[in-house]
Amino acid sequence: MTYDLHIHSCLSPCAEDDMTPATIAGFAKLNGIDVIAVADHNSALNLPAVKIACDTYGVKLLPGIEVNTAEEIHLLTYFPTVEAALKMSDALYEKLPAYPYDHNIWGRQLVLNEDDQLLQEVDRLLTGAVGMDIYTVKRLCEELGGIAVPAHVDKDSFSLLSVLGFAPEDLPFEAYEVKRPEHTLQKLLDTGRMPPGQEILTSSDAHQLGDIAEHPRVLAENSCLLRLLR
Ligand SMILES: [Zn+2]
Ligand SMILES: [Zn+2]
Repeated sequence: MTYDLHIHSCLSPCAEDDMTPATIAGFAKLNGIDVIAVADHNSALNLPAVKIACDTYGVKLLPGIEVNTAEEIHLLTYFPTVEAALKMSDALYEKLPAYPYDHNIWGRQLVLNEDDQLLQEVDRLLTGAVGMDIYTVKRLCEELGGIAVPAHVDKDSFSLLSVLGFAPEDLPFEAYEVKRPEHTLQKLLDTGRMPPGQEILTSSDAHQLGDIAEHPRVLAENSCLLRLLR
């Protein structure tokens, strides 16, 4: 099963406005991707439309959210259903800073339906850090039946390893997202910053259509995420 499990829609202020649910699903199909995750910053509000669009195109959807924890660590949270992701989304919204939002500065945050019609614009900056630490976010995700995966751990900002320096023993994960495993994974393992033997995922982190993986990777046969895709 080929995958791209880190795609931002037009709900993320940093993503292009043409990253609409229907367009993402269509692009995924064109690129031969079997399963995608749309994982917007701190919100699941576009997932109902993405789910319908994916069903229409025959692409599997793994519902996701990329949470920015209180420590400014990006944590991908994946869920068995869109409903579970929406429950997480509601809890995150309550913990977002509520200062005045100006889309001219940060970009628009569009919630669309499956026909790309505008339903609403979100009025809190979704890329902000939520008032929940990484332990709390992980626990909440798991209580909703989900699996948390530290995002782009080899990036030098907004990642588990750039913020904490190493993966704490009391914070175990079944999988880690590594952006450039060919270049960085061995070093992370050799220096003991990451535990050995973990599942490694590599996705596009697409913010524009051209970024959606043209050469998607294949999900491991024993991937932990298969528990959510059944
Ligand atoms: Zn990120
Ligand atoms: Zn991202």
